[in-house]
Amino acid sequence: MMQMTKHTYDAVVIGAGFSGLYQLHTLRDQLNLKVKVIETGHDLGGTWYWNRYPGARCDSESHSYCYMFSEEIYKEWSWSERYPGPDEIRAYLNFVATKLDLRKDIQFDTTVTSAHFIEADNVWEVATNTGDTYRTTFLITAIGCISTANVPDIPGLSTFKGKWYHTGNWPHETVSFKGKRVGQIGTGSTGIQAAPVIADTAEHLYVFQRTPNYSVPARNAPLTDEFKEYVRNNYGEIKEVVQSTPNGHPFRISSTKVFDQTEEERQATYEAAWDKGGLQFRASFQDLIVDKKANDTAANFLKNKIKSIVVDKETAESLSNIDHPYAGKRPPIDTNYFETFNRDNVTLVDLKKENIEAITATGIQTNAGHIELDMIVFATGFDAITGKFLQMDIRGRQGLPLSDAWKEGPRTYLGLQTPGFPNLFTITGPGSPSVLCNMPVPIEQHVEWITDCIEYMRKHNIDTCEANQEAADEWVDHVNAAANATLLPTVPHSWYLGANVVGKPRVFMPYAGGMTRYRAICEDVVANNYNGFVFASDGIEENTNNRTNDKFAAAEKIQSPGI
Ligand SMILES: Cc1cc2nc3c(=O)[nH]c(=O)nc-3n(C[C@H](O)[C@H](O)[C@H](O)COP(=O)(O)OP(=O)(O)OC[C@H]3O[C@@H](n4cnc5c(N)ncnc54)[C@H](O)[C@@H]3O)c2cc1C
Repeated sequence: MMQMTKHTYDAVVIGAGFSGLYQLHTLRDQLNLKVKVIETGHDLGGTWYWNRYPGARCDSESHSYCYMFSEEIYKEWSWSERYPGPDEIRAYLNFVATKLDLRKDIQFDTTVTSAHFIEADNVWEVATNTGDTYRTTFLITAIGCISTANVPDIPGLSTFKGKWYHTGNWPHETVSFKGKRVGQIGTGSTGIQAAPVIADTAEHLYVFQRTPNYSVPARNAPLTDEFKEYVRNNYGEIKEVVQSTPNGHPFRISSTKVFDQTEEERQATYEAAWDKGGLQFRASFQDLIVDKKANDTAANFLKNKIKSIVVDKETAESLSNIDHPYAGKRPPIDTNYFETFNRDNVTLVDLKKENIEAITATGIQTNAGHIELDMIVFATGFDAITGKFLQMDIRGRQGLPLSDAWKEGPRTYLGLQTPGFPNLFTITGPGSPSVLCNMPVPIEQHVEWITDCIEYMRKHNIDTCEANQEAADEWVDHVNAAANATLLPTVPHSWYLGANVVGKPRVFMPYAGGMTRYRAICEDVVANNYNGFVFASDGIEENTNNRTNDKFAAAEKIQSPGI
């Protein structure tokens, strides 16, 4: 029989990635709370614990993909490459965890299965798969936006005699492709990273492509001593840039509009961005993500690049037959992705021309024929942003399940709280900038906002903090308005809209108004007595601030999107 142990904490944090680690530090070491972090994995790292697939690498540049809250920690760590891989990111997070002595308060190998708010006591009762339960005043989810692997429901998978893997749940031992016929399904950011590395050793790689994608060369390289020195000596400046740009990257978005330049100048701008490589390509012009005609110039440039790289005309046509605006979906960056299709051992299977009918014992059956395979790699992405929330049985006031509150799509206030779920805070929750940014930046901002809020509550003897319904409704409208000011919602198959998961409501989930604007709104809420949040002590509401529409009005007037 399972041993049941009850624990009592001030705060329980779910997840031990970037978010959970920093939240543990602030609540425990700054507020002196009794805190426990609960983590499914056997070790810390979050995304980078689970995603160890061939070619896995961060697309954010290393000197910005890290914590900025401590100058000392920032300067003590030195990155080796322009983009860090999972091993180096885990080493970094371990360095931080050791420095801040975090491990002793993390419960690994444990999954939170349910969390129920007990109204009589104003506490959360948290249950886990190990049988332990936790009573806690504050419950904070640090469960990640891209942490629920999505394996498509293709008939016959259980009959497949070879091995199959999802990139987001990759084994920790080496997977060898030598002598293997591998089928890779999916050509998003992950698939684009994985294919060239799998092709290096596989006997043959078949890439099944449903949605062709743009990609810009990453141009990864070891960092020079000179650059490392620059990073060490310019902490303040780098921090200022990542915190004042809309998407938290260490570069500014150009203030030039696409049609401010002549055709010749524009091509030169794109060529220079292509040579520099990375996500910065998206920052070449101010209006790329808002103006379809402007976007077409980038899209055509990138399609022509594909055609100039890929030798086989039919394959080049299939790869460049892209139906959405550039960066309308998460823009991938790559190392030799399109070049991979010039190899003799790589075949593109264009799922616009043929359909996968079933997985068989020995391969994949399409309506055009059977492809014999020894191994299948699903690079099919994630049930993003809401996936992990809805895997838990979370219930708020009057037993309201979160799955009911979010039936038509997630409804939060600032992505931080959901009405009816007091003292439940969600780091990078739906309705916050999250995945549209270099994520350590929004993570730090959320952790610090939540910490300040809890500190305020304790100072003022407040029992509960809860988003008010009207505030959440207004915020959801604002999130939609911000998205609709961009080209992002025009991409029907985007995971930002939940379109990659069967049955998921089509709602644009992240806040596209930009991190700088979002930060200012959050600060404004605090300055206005936590406007939109209801504080209560002994069941009596403390702040009687009624919400007004003024709060987002300034934000609404800004026409440019935040990304
Ligand atoms: C392949 C890939 C590439 C990425 N590249 C970039 C990039 O280039 N730049 C960028 O900014 N971001 C990138 N991201 C996003 C990345 O997730 C974030 O940058 C960051 O790692 C998120 O940290 P987190 O702590 O919020 O969540 P995560 O790192 O996802 O950690 C969440 C943790 O919560 C745990 N958990 C979830 N539910 C439960 C539960 N019920 N019980 C117990 N534990 C639970 C999970 O096991 C996980 O370890 C990428 C993501 C992926 C998957």
